[in-house]
Amino acid sequence: MQKLPTVLVLSGLDPSGGAGIQADIQAITALGAHPLPVVTCLTVQDTRNVYDSVAVDTDLLRRQLMCLREDIQVDAIKLGALGSAAIVDLLVDFLRSQPPCPLVLDPVIKAAGGGELADNALVARMRQKLFPRATVITPNGPELSILGDDEDPQRAAMKLLDGGCPAVLATGGHGEDPLITNRLYTRNAAPKDWKLKRNGGEYHGSGCTLAAALSAGLARRQSLSDAIENAQSYVSGTINRALRVGRGQPVPYRG
Ligand code: PLP
Repeated sequence: MQKLPTVLVLSGLDPSGGAGIQADIQAITALGAHPLPVVTCLTVQDTRNVYDSVAVDTDLLRRQLMCLREDIQVDAIKLGALGSAAIVDLLVDFLRSQPPCPLVLDPVIKAAGGGELADNALVARMRQKLFPRATVITPNGPELSILGDDEDPQRAAMKLLDGGCPAVLATGGHGEDPLITNRLYTRNAAPKDWKLKRNGGEYHGSGCTLAAALSAGLARRQSLSDAIENAQSYVSGTINRALRVGRGQPVPYRG
C-alpha cells in the first residue's frame, strides 16, 4: 500500500475555486503529499474580490482537529485564512498538543481586490502567538508592510524576525518589476533571493498555491531552500497555464 506524507491544511473556502482550501488541496496533491483539509471560514467571493467571510464554529473545528489527531500522523501544517482570533487560540492549543512538525503560515489579510479576510484582532493574535511557532511565514508585499508596520520590506521583515518569527519568505508577486523577487529572511544568514520572470497581471490564489506547495515539500523532508525552489517552479507552471474562470483574475491551473 502506498504511503504519502500528510499536510494538515487550515484555510478558507473560496467558491470560485481559485484560492483558499481548493488551491491548497490541488497544490499539495500535485506535489506528492496527502492534504488533510480543515475549513476555517466560508467566504462570499468571485475571481474579482471577497465580499464576506464567516468563521466556522470554533468547537466544531476543535472536534475536527482532535478527531484527526487520534488517527493520522501529521507531517507538516499549512495555515491560510484563519477566520477569527478565537480560531488562532484554538490552533495554539492544538499545536502545543502535537509533536512538532514544519509549519508554513500564509498570513492572509486581504484579497487582491481589497476585501478583508482578517480583522485587527486576528492579525495581532496571529503575529503574537503563531509567528514564533512557524517554520516560515509567506507574506506578500502589502501583508509584510502591515505585519512589520513599515513600508520598507527589509525593516518590516527584521521586525518580524526580532519578534520571534524564525523565517520570512517575502513574495514579490504584487510589484511591477519585470522580474519577481522572492526573498527569504532568516535570523542567522544573509537574505536569499530567487528571481522569477513575471507574467503580467495578478493570479487569484497564487499566494495560497505557493505556500501550500512549500508545505508539501517540507512534509517530504526537503530543506526550506529546496522546498521554496520547487514550490516556485510549480507555481510558475500553474501561472503559465492559468485558467480564465470568471471576469476577474485568472486562476493558476493546478491540474
Ligand atoms: N484564502 C482565502 C480563503 C481567500 O479567499 C483568498 C482570496 O483572496 C486568499 C486566501 C488569498 O489569495 P491569494 O493566494 O490570491 O493571496
